[in-house]
Amino acid sequence: MYEKAIDKDEEIHQICKDTVEVEVVRVNITLACTECKQRNYTMTKDKKNHPDRMETKKYCRFCKKHTTHKETK
Ligand SMILES: [Zn+2]
Repeated sequence: MYEKAIDKDEEIHQICKDTVEVEVVRVNITLACTECKQRNYTMTKDKKNHPDRMETKKYCRFCKKHTTHKETK
């Protein structure tokens, strides 16, 4: 998780630089299979880089295959 560590350092650096303007943009999201609607994954995303709903291909153990997983609340 080397990339994640860099992200965090950057966030902390930004917060130190300007406490008022910068808010933490990393949010927890749930990824649900679009075929069976099961919520299979949770992850964090950067709202700055992904302001819209994320879509990603992941393995669904209920469908027993790779399906599109969409961000859900
Ligand atoms: Zn599924």
